[in-house]
Amino acid sequence: MTAVLFRNGLVLTMDDAHTILTGADVLIVDDRIAEIGVGLTAPEGAQEIDATGGIIMPGMVDTHRHMWQTAMRGYGADWTLTQYFVWYYLESGKHFRPEDIHAGNVLAAWEALDAGVTTTVDWSHGLQTTQHADAAVDALQSVPGRFVLAYGNIQQGPWQWSAAPEFRDFVNRRITGSDMLGFQMAFDVTGDPTFPEKAAFEVARDLGVPVTTHAGVWGATNDDGIRLMHEHGFMTPQTIYVHAATLTHDSYHRIAATGGSVSVSTESEQSAGQGYPPTWTLRDHEIPVSLSMDTSVWWSGDLFSAMRTTLGADRSREHLQAHERAETVTHVHLRAEQVVDWATRGGGRALGLDDKIGSLEPGKKADVVLLKNDASPVMFPILNPYGHVAFQAQRGDVHTVVVDGRVVKHEHRLVGADLAKVRADVEQTVEYLVDTMGREAWAKGMNPDVPETKVMDNPYTYTEWDAGSAQWKHGTAD
Ligand SMILES: [Zn+2]
Repeated sequence: MTAVLFRNGLVLTMDDAHTILTGADVLIVDDRIAEIGVGLTAPEGAQEIDATGGIIMPGMVDTHRHMWQTAMRGYGADWTLTQYFVWYYLESGKHFRPEDIHAGNVLAAWEALDAGVTTTVDWSHGLQTTQHADAAVDALQSVPGRFVLAYGNIQQGPWQWSAAPEFRDFVNRRITGSDMLGFQMAFDVTGDPTFPEKAAFEVARDLGVPVTTHAGVWGATNDDGIRLMHEHGFMTPQTIYVHAATLTHDSYHRIAATGGSVSVSTESEQSAGQGYPPTWTLRDHEIPVSLSMDTSVWWSGDLFSAMRTTLGADRSREHLQAHERAETVTHVHLRAEQVVDWATRGGGRALGLDDKIGSLEPGKKADVVLLKNDASPVMFPILNPYGHVAFQAQRGDVHTVVVDGRVVKHEHRLVGADLAKVRADVEQTVEYLVDTMGREAWAKGMNPDVPETKVMDNPYTYTEWDAGSAQWKHGTAD
């Protein structure tokens, strides 16, 4: 038996009642949460962790991240979705070898744990061969986090790769029903009226696995895809619709009626252009929400950012729309408490793992995060715990992370991570990509052209202040 006891923290349980306990302990025995309460007795040999001044919360859940792309961290900071598609889908995604998928995945997996994200869906659409898929799983299994492999391949239609015998063989070999590695199929539905994706949905149904799909992405997927899925009976409560930002009421009604959920990637939607982050309309349709970071080619894999930007986007839209009607918003709809729920419980529900993860309750899997940073002036006073998590805390405040009962980060340091090796592998991938693409193409890919800015005519353009006459001298307008 192994035991870990968090002592004297502010506990956000995220249970159904959203119970908050102060000065409380959380006892973990083996892979489960055993007890939560004040003044618990430590079993013999328990590792005690002082949580004084900190917040103990469930591990966060990211329901959509293209982990292989972390090897390109930050490269696409100034991209739009168009540039992303050109780079990965059309031009350079095909260069990735199994070892490159591996390098990106290992880096992304440690990054997730470091940020308190204990479960991550690896939306792995760079799996050109099952050797790539084996590399992805090898990587995920080498890091002590909880993952879901969402299998995809942007170099082929889903009806092609999902029909390959080696795909079935891969699933049989590598997906064993472990709590640490779930499985989904990941592909998009273009809206082609012949619905070629039907065959892939049938494979998913046959395997009994959920489908995750980029839906409602401006210029790529729309209502037609949703309608085809619905008419053919492929919309299920397990289906995760990523973005779902540019759909009509009709599609949202279909999603709500079939019990699916939406993975909102606010930072992505804001920069890339899939559409406005849809939490405002998901609320109206009572569609469950989880949060995701999408890809570290633009952003970090950090759900604090997701919570923060999601609150900002939802409120920003609400204010802007009110101002257009000459009205003032006096009470905002979206609360900090809600986004903390989405980042934890919402993810667990979306993945069908609500009985195991997403909240701190006895009997559940021990995926636990302690936010505590005694050296930070931002960690006190903690008056509004949900507000503190959503707007004040950040990844540097993640003190301890436990996954499945195992301490994977402690006192702000990852446990057992050979970051030197991770770095060397990623450097090799980058070097290989630069060599393959050529230095010029590499630099060009990272630095898209800036469109011309049309500066407005300004009636108040003057050149200088004349102290003698105490007047502005007029500039010459041409
Ligand atoms: Zn995505």
